[in-house]
Amino acid sequence: MTNEELKQFKSAISITAVAQSLGVNVSHGKCRCFFPLRHAHEDRTPSVSISEERGTFRCWVCDDVRGDVISLVQIVKDCGFTEALNWLMEQYPFLVPASARKEMAKIAERVANAAGRPRAASSVARMPEVAPPPEPEEPPLVSEDDRKKIILSFLKRLSPVDNTLAGKWLARRRIYKPVWDKMLLRTITNYEEVNNSLEADFGEEILKYVGLFNDKGHLRYYKHPLIFPYLDPQRRAFYFQSRAIDNTVVPKELNLRGTVPYPYNMVALDQKPGWVYLCEGVVDTLTFLGQRINAVGIPGVRSFKVEWLNLFRNKNVVLCLDHDEAGRSGMEYIGNLFTQAGIHNVILGEGMENLPTAMKEGEDINDWFGGKK
Ligand SMILES: [Zn+2]
Repeated sequence: MTNEELKQFKSAISITAVAQSLGVNVSHGKCRCFFPLRHAHEDRTPSVSISEERGTFRCWVCDDVRGDVISLVQIVKDCGFTEALNWLMEQYPFLVPASARKEMAKIAERVANAAGRPRAASSVARMPEVAPPPEPEEPPLVSEDDRKKIILSFLKRLSPVDNTLAGKWLARRRIYKPVWDKMLLRTITNYEEVNNSLEADFGEEILKYVGLFNDKGHLRYYKHPLIFPYLDPQRRAFYFQSRAIDNTVVPKELNLRGTVPYPYNMVALDQKPGWVYLCEGVVDTLTFLGQRINAVGIPGVRSFKVEWLNLFRNKNVVLCLDHDEAGRSGMEYIGNLFTQAGIHNVILGEGMENLPTAMKEGEDINDWFGGKK
């Protein structure tokens, strides 16, 4: 079990769901402090923010009440790191590779020790040992609702991809206008204008906070002008991915900071019996949609959330990750999650490797359907 696997374990769990299963009352990303006596009026107005995006929590009064999902369990159950992790593994056994169940706790503890666990200084209440938060926290500059409005406002400023370089790029990959329109694909044709109008409306600090602007104070998508909104059933989007259309740009895709709220093209998950193809990345998903094949996409294996399993109810899932080493181990991981949840799943092309039409090593879905890089 590697650090990477521990990260994956944590990132697959919703911190809000864990808090609720521990009996914590979470409302609009907030809950009362676990040490109410330290607060005026026993923290009647909740002081603890829970960030589903980052998988972290923090009390705005108590310096020592903060951390990730494991620290949350430690505080609420008043236990140590190992016990908290074991409890989480019991709650989500299908997230833990069987071969590593025993070993995982030991390694996780070593990681926490290496990072240096701060001990609570307060004498008001006995504090359990808390692992350090995974990344520095920032104060919530805007509420979750306002964050969504800003993302929506950004998307509304963009152009359809018709007659643009982005449109040409898609057409080379055999993804055409019916799909552009259906999925509301957008592009940035005038970077300066989008950058400046956003800054005038919201200010640099807030745009940095929501992740649209980089540390230098500019719109992030200078080299990634093709925008894939993640539409919900009402065809609104509060999340998107951006794509470079110049093949020399690395990385090819940028994700909006925070947790992916649901798979790409989630409307395909309509709870009716049928098949759905699960792809890695938006381009492969669009490729299937162009062939009138029901498909959904995830940005990567690490972004797949246990909570999404429910969305796949009544579906048979065809796993279509890339035909390479990483894709194969990803399909094994996700396939196991589906199987544990009673969702029938198969790997695309399994058992047909010797047919002339089989995907070749290193190919993705778009290559397979004849798309050109
Ligand atoms: Zn507090």
